Amino acid sequence: MNSTEGKHVRHWINGKPYDGPAARRGDIHDPATGRPSGTVDFASQTEVDAAVAAAKAAFPAWRDASLAKRASVLFRFRELLTAHRDELAELISSEHGKVVSDAAGEVARGLEVVEFACGIPHLLKGGFSENVSTRVDAYSILQPLGVVAGVTPFNFPAMVPMWMFPVAIACGNTFVLKPSEKDPSAAVRLAELWAEAGLPDGVFNVVHGDKVAVDGLLEHPDVKAVSFVGSTPIARYIYESAARHGKRVQALGGAKNHMVVLPDADLDLAADAAVSAGFGSAGERCMAISVLVAVDPVGDALLDKIAERVARLRVGPGHDPASDMGPLVTRQHRDKVASYIDSGLAQGATVAVDGREVRVDGEYADGYWLGPTVLDHVTPEMDAYTDEIFGPVLSVVRVSSYDEAMKLISDNPYGNGTAIFTNDGGAARRFQNEVEVGMVGINVPIPVPMAYYSFGGWKASLFGDSHAHGMEGVHFYTRTKAVTARWLDPSHGGVNLGFPTNG
Ligand code: NAD
Repeated sequence: MNSTEGKHVRHWINGKPYDGPAARRGDIHDPATGRPSGTVDFASQTEVDAAVAAAKAAFPAWRDASLAKRASVLFRFRELLTAHRDELAELISSEHGKVVSDAAGEVARGLEVVEFACGIPHLLKGGFSENVSTRVDAYSILQPLGVVAGVTPFNFPAMVPMWMFPVAIACGNTFVLKPSEKDPSAAVRLAELWAEAGLPDGVFNVVHGDKVAVDGLLEHPDVKAVSFVGSTPIARYIYESAARHGKRVQALGGAKNHMVVLPDADLDLAADAAVSAGFGSAGERCMAISVLVAVDPVGDALLDKIAERVARLRVGPGHDPASDMGPLVTRQHRDKVASYIDSGLAQGATVAVDGREVRVDGEYADGYWLGPTVLDHVTPEMDAYTDEIFGPVLSVVRVSSYDEAMKLISDNPYGNGTAIFTNDGGAARRFQNEVEVGMVGINVPIPVPMAYYSFGGWKASLFGDSHAHGMEGVHFYTRTKAVTARWLDPSHGGVNLGFPTNG
């Protein structure tokens, strides 16, 4: 029996679990067994209002908390996250399905953003210019926005929220998080750790639910900015709706990441990378490689090496250290992903490795299993190519030249991540220069930027102009104020109706 069976996940409002009644609830499942493991309250406008009101009430004191005080809370939060990393990883695995080591990796990458935000005293330094005019100084200050909201996807229930709230809170904002209803527990555990770290009540709140909760935040007059990460259709909706309601918004969407392998590449390295990036977290990563572009003549040799490696992968429950890959998040998603294998075959692709028959026995027989699958001879017209599959299906497209590979990427509506494998520095440099994608790997398959850079795609993978975390995160969560000041012994120039100029 799962230790979390029968759990009831509540909202977290004003520093504690919300104990009001829930008009609606959702089920939480263990994807490895296929059985329900608990329920989660779904917010109506009442709970959204309560969370936003708590955040609004906490804002004046938190915005005025010294930078040293904010940094010290962040440092304590960092220590607690480190201490509870394994526990968080197990919690994530029990609701998402990913293997525990992978879940620990996501906590570690979120932790990096907390560490970045610990440097907030440095990050919030404005500019200062002395004597812009005679005895007149000018400077800029970065101020928080107020209550800001984050809406996050199922696939990184700890890391993606941590792309947002450490920076937002460090900047002096207060935060309302609406995590995915599919794996909501990590968000609440993070809220508990914040409280233990000494974050004042109301600075970080969590409301659970679906579109009702999200719309409540998008339309709320006291929410000043919205950060979203999820699929492209919802990202577009969030961007349009939040902007219509006068909010600052960044909305990161879906992906179709291509990995190009040039003929001079180290094929063992490329095969390792394709398998790791295609099937890690069962392909449910926005930076997963979903299209392998093999430039002639490497296709056959590369496919052989990939098939060898995939054959050794072990599919099983996330908590079993012997498992390389866990189940998919829901049965519905599992079946949708499998349908792309069927449609790919019907549309002319061939299957090099077929994961459809993979089963895990015993108490896991009803889990949402789908083994790693490699579709070969995929072409751009096929559904398996045009759609974001978001599962363990690697499509191989064979092309005859670098230019054909580049055209494929340029014509694709998404622009999240991409990678090139080559030993030719000139080709790699040309790729990095030409490719219309926000995050580029050179002999690196999952080029997720470090916390002090910013994460975000181009084209249909991002709506808005700010990427997440790094300095773009700091700018997203602050407004700049420019001050011009004259002190002591001002020169008395008399009345002058002309526009101020320096002199
Ligand atoms: P999703 O778009 O279904 O859901 C994301 C969030 O939006 C959830 O909190 C969900 O409750 C909410 N939501 C869903 N439907 C809504 C609606 N109609 N109105 C308002 N809110 C709604 O995404 P998902 O299935 O949870 O996550 C997978 C997707 O996220 C993939 O497309 C993946 O590429 C993308 N993703 C992108 C990035 C990135 O950085 N670009 C990172 C992780 C995941």
